[in-house]
Amino acid sequence: MKILVTGAAGRIGSSVLRRLLGAGHAVTAFDLETPSLRDPGLRTVIGSLEDAGSVRAAARGVEGVLHLGSLMSWRPQDADRLFAVNVAGTRNVLDAAVAAGARRFVFASSGEVYPESRPQFLPITEDHPCLPTSDYGMTKLLGEALVRFYERRFGLACVILRFSHVQDAAELLDPESFFSGPRFFLKPKIAQLHMLGQSDVAERLRAHDDGADKLVLSCNENGRPFRMIITETRDIVDGILLGLDAETAAGETFNLGSHETFDFEPALERMARETRLPLVRVNLPGPGVFYSTSSERIRTRLGFRTRWTVDKVLDEAVAAWRDRAHLANR
Ligand code: NAD
Repeated sequence: MKILVTGAAGRIGSSVLRRLLGAGHAVTAFDLETPSLRDPGLRTVIGSLEDAGSVRAAARGVEGVLHLGSLMSWRPQDADRLFAVNVAGTRNVLDAAVAAGARRFVFASSGEVYPESRPQFLPITEDHPCLPTSDYGMTKLLGEALVRFYERRFGLACVILRFSHVQDAAELLDPESFFSGPRFFLKPKIAQLHMLGQSDVAERLRAHDDGADKLVLSCNENGRPFRMIITETRDIVDGILLGLDAETAAGETFNLGSHETFDFEPALERMARETRLPLVRVNLPGPGVFYSTSSERIRTRLGFRTRWTVDKVLDEAVAAWRDRAHLANR
């Protein structure tokens, strides 16, 4: 099958490329950045989702589209760009898919279409009201509406996958990681709070910062440790490929993620034990993060299974942390 992958240089896109090429598909990679993968079956088009012409050129002749490209930002100053890339850009990809006569379109949506920080019930199922609380979540919901519009109007067979939070296992204990750095390490968390305009909270956390690397256990204002879903990239790729191949997936919307919750307290206690980094427990204002999301629908209808348990993800995270520490000490 000839497949276009947008966002092909990203965390999930690059892993998808490897799997598709390994299975013998002819793949066109589209991204602002050049994917690191080199393969005779890979055609690369560098361009922006905002540029309808280059998206159309990339899509020429494809039968399937995996639309994974998007801007992920929560900075207020990126709001205009978020809507341009994630909404107008998604429309460009849909137009290009229709022009190419594609048979399947898979859209990478997000659990942020739900009010994950204030859910009306748990676990969050696909029937939970979609009431995003961030610009990013709103752009994903508008993307979903466009996808369904193109499906109704042009008969394009579309699958919407609402990904849980996604990380490579190796990112979890990397203080430089875009998501896991501020989530699990004290200094990056202080920097992120400043960047999000929460300087009063950042200054309170600074009292724990003596310059040494430290892990941080985030709790809400009442001291309840955070809980969320974090899914390993390779499991997400399994789900995306089901969305591409499964006959019964067309027209459906699925939550895609691990069935296990990622509970910060036991996870961070293990991270601290294995890295011997100090662990600081902090109470943050508000209800905090405490949700679980059901992936029952994709499990029962498409046979999706997660292979990376939280324990297995932490095993790999610790091994990667030790490798980095070993290299730094050489
Ligand atoms: P990523 O940031 O690693 O990859 C996104 C890719 O999109 C990058 O390679 C980036 O260069 C590309 N991109 C951004 N703006 C572009 C533009 N204007 N034109 C062309 N390409 C552009 O993110 P990821 O984790 O691989 O996420 C892939 C998809 O999954 C995204 O749609 C994201 O919204 C969605 N998602 C991710 C998560 C997560 O936790 N990582 C959770 C839910 C949904």
